Amino acid sequence: MYRSPVEDILFSLRHVAGLDEAIAEGAFGDLDADTVASVIGEAGRFATEVIAPLNRTGDTQGAKCENGVVTSPQGFRDAYQQWVAGGWAGVTAAPEQGGMGLPHSVNFACSEIWNGASMGFALCPLLSEGALGALNAYASPELKETYVKRLASGEWTGTMNLTEPQAGSDLNAVRARAEPAGDGSYRVFGQKIFITYGEHDLADNIVHLVLARLPDAPAGTRGLSLFLVPKFLVRPDGSLGQRNDVRCASIEHKLGIHASPTCVMVYGDNGGATGFLVGEENRGLAAMFVMMNSARLSVGLQGVAIAERAFQHAAAYARDRKQGRAGAAPGMSPIVEHPDVRRMLLTMKASLQAARGICHLTGVAIDLSRHAATKEAREAAAERASLLTPVAKAWSTDVGDEAASLGVQVHGGMGYIEETGAAQHMRDARIAGIYEGTNGIQAVDLVTRKITLGGGRAVQREIAFIRAIASDAAGRDGFGATGKRLEEAAGGLERATAYLLDALANDQDAALAGAYAYLKLFGLALGGACLAKAALAPEADAGRVALARFFAEKLAPVAPGLAETILSGDAALSGAEAALKEVA
Ligand SMILES: Cc1cc2nc3c(=O)[nH]c(=O)nc-3n(C[C@H](O)[C@H](O)[C@H](O)COP(=O)(O)OP(=O)(O)OC[C@H]3O[C@@H](n4cnc5c(N)ncnc54)[C@H](O)[C@@H]3O)c2cc1C
Repeated sequence: MYRSPVEDILFSLRHVAGLDEAIAEGAFGDLDADTVASVIGEAGRFATEVIAPLNRTGDTQGAKCENGVVTSPQGFRDAYQQWVAGGWAGVTAAPEQGGMGLPHSVNFACSEIWNGASMGFALCPLLSEGALGALNAYASPELKETYVKRLASGEWTGTMNLTEPQAGSDLNAVRARAEPAGDGSYRVFGQKIFITYGEHDLADNIVHLVLARLPDAPAGTRGLSLFLVPKFLVRPDGSLGQRNDVRCASIEHKLGIHASPTCVMVYGDNGGATGFLVGEENRGLAAMFVMMNSARLSVGLQGVAIAERAFQHAAAYARDRKQGRAGAAPGMSPIVEHPDVRRMLLTMKASLQAARGICHLTGVAIDLSRHAATKEAREAAAERASLLTPVAKAWSTDVGDEAASLGVQVHGGMGYIEETGAAQHMRDARIAGIYEGTNGIQAVDLVTRKITLGGGRAVQREIAFIRAIASDAAGRDGFGATGKRLEEAAGGLERATAYLLDALANDQDAALAGAYAYLKLFGLALGGACLAKAALAPEADAGRVALARFFAEKLAPVAPGLAETILSGDAALSGAEAALKEVA
């Protein structure tokens, strides 16, 4: 039933995010738009035919753990091997590493495709890609030589080990420790929880990236170092040696993504797991952030992916299911003809395409931060990527959640019954707002660290971007009040930004109280602009114009209201002690 939305993805990359312009400017050497289209088209075919059919079995069978051995659901290992054979692990890796050497934005587009087919499957590559990025940026040439090629080929997979029982959002509390072994390596000890694909049977080796503290390290996150801890040690000739002192103690029973094993990992029960320092001592978080930033955008795209899947599912059901009479219809009508069902379907589709636009803008900005022609353009792109990453992650995953829930609603009672599969989307979508930094933490990051970038210059550029699109849309045939509503949203964003910049200097609590509303406002204004930009493209059809108008007239008007909630400061929160008092 699910088909990868290849055409929409290409349209968004080209006409919203400006990939064509970046290609034309020579940012990616001799890459051309046809190559991008054929790679994404092939990813879509593979995902639709090979991965998507496993989504249901992945959910019903789930990953199993027995005596530390994790078994994937039926068909997953074979699909992973086919995925590796297709070269999909190395989309961004350099040709000399055996990769395709394509832009990150192309890989992010593929990431949406894998996740739409099966989130439980796609989490394994998502983490490997992050590990690859961190190693490429920070590992020594020797570590790169041993590990990077085999991650880029997919022969081995990667993990990210931050979380411990007492250290989730707050990594100051990490206790895992490491000691120099005297031979250049380290011994790593401690327990990590919730580690995605920490153990599995898809590949022969697993490369764990683990945050831990060295003896005498400073307290807090400034005392964290990053270690590469392989499941199997690697001999000098590259073959696999003995099993390292790391094991999976158990996997979690959870709401969704059942195919993805979420592992409790124990390091160093038998004298210490052999680890290798990545980057400098006590600078581990900087290296881990390379991984986290890539993973945050990929998680944002999980929101888009699951919303797309839920939309396709709900739209098909709504065309098929008949109830009531719409308008003057002679008999029972397909429910898609009822205004409220149309509202739900359009909300799903418009929001997911808006979120896709934001994610693609972020992905292309990541590419341009490395490849734009001038230093000035590279710096502006880096600021844009940094500013938009929390919006792409949190706004898009909220969209995933809301769309999956609306998908259940469109199905009525059948949505609540597991057999239709609509409920799985809702269960799977829920995690994306929690991991890779909860959406609340993304909002705090946006307000406390990102809107101040370049003294507020980065966010001003974004507001100007939205305003230029609003002005282009104003008065155009078929666009209704799109231009006006987007201008109002941009105005709200401008007012809220000015208030928050001031509050950051004078009243931090007031800034934090408005953080989530600000993130929502940002997403609405920028998402609406993305849809309008797509609709304004000469190649756009009437459907894109209708979607941009729906979003601007029916969803974006909330934006000025969100600005008001931000401007009201924190009195309604800090003064509400009585409402949260425990019942005696
Ligand atoms: C299925 C799954 C897979 C995961 N995969 C991985 C993985 O591969 N690797 C890994 O290292 N971790 C992983 N995690 C862990 C995940 O990243 C954490 O659960 C997440 O960061 C939140 O931490 P926490 O659960 O301790 O919640 P807490 O930090 O306890 O947060 C609880 C609530 O308090 C809020 N909160 C906390 N601090 C603040 C603050 N300063 N300001 C405002 N609000 C705040 C949060 O937003 C949240 O709503 C995974 C988790 C799950 C469930």
